[in-house]
Amino acid sequence: MSESRPTASVLVTGSELLTGHVADANGPFVARSLGDLGFAVRRVLLVGDRPEDLRTALEFVAGDDLVVTSGGLGPTADDLTADVVAEFAGAPMEVDTALQERIHARVAGWAARAGWDGPALDAATAKQARVPRGGSVLEPVGTAPGLAVSREGGPLVVVLPGPPRELTGMWPAALAAEPVAVLLARTPHAEPTLLRFAGLPESEIAETLRVIGTDLDLSRVEITTCLRRSELEVDLHPLPGAEPVARDLAERIVDRHRRKLISDDGSTTDELVADALAGRGWTVATGESCTGGLLAGRLVDRSGSSAYVAGGVVAYSDAAKTALLDVPAALVAEHGAVSPEVARALADGARARFGADVGVGITGVAGPGGGTEAKPVGYVCFCVTTADGQVIARDPQLPGGRADVRERSVDLAMHLLLRVTGVTGPDAHR
Ligand code: ATP
Repeated sequence: MSESRPTASVLVTGSELLTGHVADANGPFVARSLGDLGFAVRRVLLVGDRPEDLRTALEFVAGDDLVVTSGGLGPTADDLTADVVAEFAGAPMEVDTALQERIHARVAGWAARAGWDGPALDAATAKQARVPRGGSVLEPVGTAPGLAVSREGGPLVVVLPGPPRELTGMWPAALAAEPVAVLLARTPHAEPTLLRFAGLPESEIAETLRVIGTDLDLSRVEITTCLRRSELEVDLHPLPGAEPVARDLAERIVDRHRRKLISDDGSTTDELVADALAGRGWTVATGESCTGGLLAGRLVDRSGSSAYVAGGVVAYSDAAKTALLDVPAALVAEHGAVSPEVARALADGARARFGADVGVGITGVAGPGGGTEAKPVGYVCFCVTTADGQVIARDPQLPGGRADVRERSVDLAMHLLLRVTGVTGPDAHR
């Protein structure tokens, strides 16, 4: 299927990742980037710190063109990735004294302050400055340098540190390093297309693909669908030469589901909301009950959000709704705190209090307790109102547990914001 694409695997090491307490951030990052660069990513493997596990994993992926490892590059004796990779590549380790001096210069200040200089520091920097013969050094972002080393007749192995900030910081340099650049130069680059839909079940896309597949040969386009943030992402990755088929396919999918389309160029809802609000010169204010500030948090996730976020209030108790957002106590008494009427009052109250152009109100039953027959767990009322008189209200029953209901509520509110700013059509907001 992916005959002419080089293959790659990612080998993530770290016993702490096997406990389930730390989620792997590096595997997805590297896999996505390599996929975008045109590699066929074969495997992302997670192994503990035991050298024999790492050895086995390396042999397992030895048939790939590129292997990227993360973790186990620290100064302590149990950080063994570089040694195991050197052994795998059949390259003896040598101390690179210039590199040792550079590492020393990076850490000398804080090591002295921590009373940690002297022989211990020298031993640590010497360990981190060992490079497999013939390998390339990737300059560190923290203290651990990365490495790129090839096994004869086998893969190029790129070794990177575990802390995600360090790994992502070194990634551009890793891609630019000579042996990697050589491999990239012979990687056919095919631009993937990412379509994003809201309110479109996977089963409908499956049916759409089946129908289109009856008169378009889809065998040279890798199609992945993924549900994320209440959206269906359809990733079309053409094999070399199949770009026109992927474009045709994208157009046909969009034609069938235009009303549910969020974007056909990979733009995220958050980017679109930010651009739309900023483009109109609008500000938004939130009045949140069951989401407890999650929507405000999501809105300020992006840098530059002060241009369009006025502020938000978490009004959880009835008294707070009244005192902070002017929701009439009588309205709460008559309709209940979870009601379309109160959602509307929260939106208007937030808008008025913050002097914003757009107000969003959310109130719902996140569960697991507190549901009634009329207002079951997952029942959430939304309202978005604007200074120019638009009112969009929804009161769906969202599936899932407490965390799901709260997260989906934020997703839905973001879709309503898209709609109120005129970015998406009438259906792409459920
Ligand atoms: P150093 O020892 O210098 O920190 P290292 O390369 O040895 O670097 P590790 O010891 O493997 O890195 O990891 C250090 C910390 O970084 C871990 O405790 C963990 O919190 C975080 N970390 C490592 N790998 C990952 C990963 N794949 N995803 C998320 N966090 C990670």
